Amino acid sequence: MPGPYIVPVHGDEELPTVCDVVVIGGGIVGASTALELAERGLRVTLCEKGGIGHEQSSRNWGWVRISMRDPREVPLMAESLRIWDGLDARTGRDTGFKRAGIIFTCANEKELADHDRWRSNLEGYQIESRMLSAGEFGALLPGSRLGMAGALYTPADGRAEPQRAAPAIAEAARDKGATILTECAVRGIELSAGAISGVVTERGPIACQAVVLAGGAWSSLFSGRFGIDLPQLKVMNSVLRTKPLEGGPEQTVWAKDFAIRKRQDGGYTVASGYDNIVDIVPASFRYAKDFLPALRSEWKSLLFRFGSRFLDEARIPGHWSLDEASPFECNRVLDPVPSKKRQDKALADLMAAFPIFAKAEIAQRWAGYIDVTPDAVPVISDVESIPGFHIATGFSGHGFGIGPAAGRLMADIVTGRPPIVDPKAFRLSRFRDGSKIELISGV
Ligand SMILES: Cc1cc2nc3c(=O)[nH]c(=O)nc-3n(C[C@H](O)[C@H](O)[C@H](O)COP(=O)(O)OP(=O)(O)OC[C@H]3O[C@@H](n4cnc5c(N)ncnc54)[C@H](O)[C@@H]3O)c2cc1C
Repeated sequence: MPGPYIVPVHGDEELPTVCDVVVIGGGIVGASTALELAERGLRVTLCEKGGIGHEQSSRNWGWVRISMRDPREVPLMAESLRIWDGLDARTGRDTGFKRAGIIFTCANEKELADHDRWRSNLEGYQIESRMLSAGEFGALLPGSRLGMAGALYTPADGRAEPQRAAPAIAEAARDKGATILTECAVRGIELSAGAISGVVTERGPIACQAVVLAGGAWSSLFSGRFGIDLPQLKVMNSVLRTKPLEGGPEQTVWAKDFAIRKRQDGGYTVASGYDNIVDIVPASFRYAKDFLPALRSEWKSLLFRFGSRFLDEARIPGHWSLDEASPFECNRVLDPVPSKKRQDKALADLMAAFPIFAKAEIAQRWAGYIDVTPDAVPVISDVESIPGFHIATGFSGHGFGIGPAAGRLMADIVTGRPPIVDPKAFRLSRFRDGSKIELISGV
């Protein structure tokens, strides 16, 4: 199997002919939405074109953080931390969640001041987050040789196991009555009098009144087929995991050259804290104007690449018939080739900063495509032009931690309950209604 080793979820055999809500996409966002809806007594069908959690939701670093979040995401992330606290008990399964704390190191006084200023976003929340001097960092993490001006330390932040979490949540949704279909791509939606009346899957149609598109990096392609303009691009990040290692940091640590998280198995998930590869594809030109502000502020961390991915994506049709194989069946799992060069550099920089890692043995390497929006804030929204159609996507590299609360908010919107947080910042229409699109957080 490509990518990391994921707890397998076996799909149900029978395709329901009718249900209340179809959720498209079995990542952490789709699985969390399905669980919330099933707990509210709705008949839910979750359709995943590959396996549960096989794309971003199993490939990520496993950081569950509120620290250094875009302020627009802070209220939802505060809810998410609370949901994570109870997730193992609620699902009856082990997601590996632990509030082990996250440290963002600051290379210079300017970064220190910026991180200190960020802490004002937590005013009013009972969440501890404090600045550390270089000496305090050294006392907390003995054995470090990392030069720094100081760090932001948020003990309330957590970590969880990406290869366990989405499967645990999907299984819990099934316990509550949801149908879980794997290797079952949704080709499209069906409308009656302009509103959702069902979906067409590769295994047949399902009648329903509501659809949630939680398709990760595929959401823009799916939406575009039905006339919905969703600006979304992808960036690639490479990850490696080490075998178990004694004596390394318990806290999750970000530094410009590396980012590490201790795993439940005693190993570490390691990546560059900074480098992301951007493949130039046709969508890069289509959405160039939308992404210009983001490019201006993030260009230093982006490595642009022009290669075979351009042609691969150019060959994907924007329109397909619902009675023939769709692009989603032609690529079950996005499994990009990792950049060994970037991974090896991150590991070498980590070894220089924490000599204990000289003993680290590499167990596995993988990469993942991260789906991003122009303001790096997700879309969790209904779609005005198609009553009954909803989108939860574009989590821009932050969706693992916020996924459980995103599922709750999406379920609130679908069922018309008072939303757990104000969903205004997440509305789809912001990209086309003249609103100012700003990238606020750089992390
Ligand atoms: C390397 C890397 C590191 C990251 N680190 C972190 C981190 O530390 N913390 C954090 O919070 N976030 C992190 N992220 C981001 C996080 O992983 C994502 O934001 C999150 O997993 C998104 O979840 P999702 O459910 O929206 O998408 P995905 O997990 O990508 O799931 C979408 C699913 O939809 C399916 N699908 C698409 N179209 C169809 C269709 N038509 N029919 C059926 N199925 C379909 C796909 O097969 C896929 O499985 C990272 C991401 C990567 C790649």
